[in-house]
Amino acid sequence: MDLRQHIRGVPDFPKPGILFYDISTLLRHGPAWHEAVARMAEAIRPHAPTMLAGIESRGFLLAAPLALQLGLGFVMLRKRGKLPGATIGLDYALEYGTDRIEIQADAVRPGERVVILDDLLATGGTMAAGIELLRKAGAEVPAAAALIELTFLKGRERLDVPCEVLVSYD
Ligand code: IMP
Repeated sequence: MDLRQHIRGVPDFPKPGILFYDISTLLRHGPAWHEAVARMAEAIRPHAPTMLAGIESRGFLLAAPLALQLGLGFVMLRKRGKLPGATIGLDYALEYGTDRIEIQADAVRPGERVVILDDLLATGGTMAAGIELLRKAGAEVPAAAALIELTFLKGRERLDVPCEVLVSYD
């Protein structure tokens, strides 16, 4: 099955000149969504994760079913102020300004092997921040994974771990 056929490119979203790759159409199509999760599970398995992490919010859509499929737990990396209890945070640069992601301080045990998931790898800033945050919390990160990679933005070069992807655009 060609997953590409189920991903929609939306011109001029969220700003003029940006082509936004929308996974809503993939999520709506049962067999395509099932296939995407199954393929991602096989791509991640060799990295021998003991846990998965998802980046808010579309990363959750992948991390949760993959955790079930692989029989693992799943931890949420969330935007500022959303997680109760003690948290560890990381500020990272955006195109304009900064953002912050957080994890619960007791979410991972030292040495836990956590594979991190997001829907799409663009410049790699978000994924790199997620990896750094997981390490700050005590995890090892053997790999990252995303459904889609925009290869022309070279996000992969900002990561010091392999990144598994199912569909690339260049
Ligand atoms: P990066 O930090 O530049 O790699 O951007 C990746 C983040 O922005 C991910 O969390 C994506 O969900 C989001 N993102 C950037 N471009 C797109 C797109 O075309 N479609 C969907 N999400 C995108």
